Amino acid sequence: MLSSDPLCNILYVDLTRKRFRVEQRQDLFDRYLGGAGVATQLLHQSCPEGGDPLGPENPIVFAVGPLTGLFPLASKTVAMFKSPHTGNLGESHCGGRSAVAIRMAGYGAIVIEGRSEIPIYLAIHGSDVHFRDASTLWGMSSSLTVGHIIREREPGSGLRTIMRIGRAGERMVTYACVAAETYRHFGRLGLGAVFGSKNLKAVVVSGKRSLPVADNRAYRRVYKDIYEAATSSEAMKKYHDLGTAQNVLPLNKLSAFPTRNLQETKFEAAEELSGEAFAQRYLGRRLACSHCPVACIHIAALREPHEVEPYFYKTSMISYDYEPIYAMGSMLGVGDPEGLLRLLDRAEVLGLDLMTTGPVLSWATEAQEKGLVSEKDTGGLRLSWGDWKTYLEATQRIVEQPNDYFAALARGVEHASSIYGGAEFALALGGNEMPGYHTGPAAHVGCLMGARHSHLDNAGYSVDQKVLVKEELSPEALGDALLEEESWRQILSSIVICFFAREIYDRDTVLCCLKAAGFDLDVDRLLKTGRDIHREKFRFKAREGFTFDGLRIPERILETKAPASGLSEEYIRATLDHVRKALV
Ligand code: SF4
Repeated sequence: MLSSDPLCNILYVDLTRKRFRVEQRQDLFDRYLGGAGVATQLLHQSCPEGGDPLGPENPIVFAVGPLTGLFPLASKTVAMFKSPHTGNLGESHCGGRSAVAIRMAGYGAIVIEGRSEIPIYLAIHGSDVHFRDASTLWGMSSSLTVGHIIREREPGSGLRTIMRIGRAGERMVTYACVAAETYRHFGRLGLGAVFGSKNLKAVVVSGKRSLPVADNRAYRRVYKDIYEAATSSEAMKKYHDLGTAQNVLPLNKLSAFPTRNLQETKFEAAEELSGEAFAQRYLGRRLACSHCPVACIHIAALREPHEVEPYFYKTSMISYDYEPIYAMGSMLGVGDPEGLLRLLDRAEVLGLDLMTTGPVLSWATEAQEKGLVSEKDTGGLRLSWGDWKTYLEATQRIVEQPNDYFAALARGVEHASSIYGGAEFALALGGNEMPGYHTGPAAHVGCLMGARHSHLDNAGYSVDQKVLVKEELSPEALGDALLEEESWRQILSSIVICFFAREIYDRDTVLCCLKAAGFDLDVDRLLKTGRDIHREKFRFKAREGFTFDGLRIPERILETKAPASGLSEEYIRATLDHVRKALV
């Protein structure tokens, strides 16, 4: 990397002692590029083996990459921590202004350690770090209000990121999220709970650095090519026009749209919840992360009448995407789009990860239907498919945890089903609730084997739809395909770009961009770096007790027919075994 690049600066913040320091680690960035690669190393170094994810010993690592601030769609920040939800590797990505703000503040990574005695928020403005009292913000019912107040107090308007938690994080729901700029999130695996455990309400970052490039002319050339591809390609146009909600109708048509806790794969109200219907009826505006010309973030404008006064209306701006539509819509049998938008809004205000909340509520509904859970457990609530008003109340109770049952739900379906039964329909893979794809075995193997048990690890759902719907693959061939994709994604999440731009950032483009940023690699070295980072993640996971043999495959996943062939326990286990051997 270029020696003048501030990327090598790592800011360490100690919340216990209210101190900070900067270390220069060019060695780490030269070896692992940035983002996920560097964050994995920092997690290895800062997180003690067997540490409590909600203890002061669990660090929060934020890392950006060499392309951040230089190229379009290099808009994401990687967060790395030990997950309170799975007890293992926690990795979550978020856009908004987070990445560009951290880079412009002059850092490649920020490591937050310890625990404050009182609620605080961190304000990092370039080289200044402030520990601000957040006692008056703690306990506020709406995370949106917290954002408004911090916006008024802090400088750096237009350049800063405000990453904050809601009540769910304060109450340490193990799938609480961290919101950045309201509509983007570090969603999965409970970063919000780790913030809460540290009495950390928010992190504000801003800065005005400029960044060096190796060869200005080459930089401009490759920038122009990427920008043109991002603004003219058909794939990116779809993200702009309809967003990820474009996936609702194709997946429903394919019978791969998980419905009512995956008892079905087609939802009768899919048309109502489609990207097309949302755009026509509710789309209020589109937003973009910093340095992204695509603007895939779709915000619905929901107008609600005042409860008492006639002719008075409140308009809420609510973001929607495919995964929230699946999780809080089809999985709960909620076909009323306005009911769904209210559910999404409530989860946003509380700071919950929607992709987890949906499968938790769908498990709870089926558990109550089957008599495993009584109205005494639920405090009088009777959950039933489609009843979004009762789901609103249940969502609130998950956060407030008024009794043992809601405290169990606040730890996810793996935990709740270990107490109340119903593991066969508790839809978690590696402890992480399933995403919205029942396309076939590759989707589920992909989540089981993925370093963070996410559909974004290796996109198994794509292998199902492109290959396994037409032909069979041996477990070895499937395992190799998923491993190759996952290794490549380590590069994309280390440089760090938005996965939606993965077709634009092919190998040659990545090498050209890296060269402009001062990294002179060839393709073999690049691919080896991806494999190394992948192995390093598994080294952390193994250290914290992960084993392939210990993975649970919920019966419901095997019983519900999927469009692609090969959905059997034997095939899935054989593929996992091949992956295990390849990673050792
Ligand atoms: S495509 Fe969407 S998620 Fe990706 S960087 Fe752009 S606005 Fe953000």
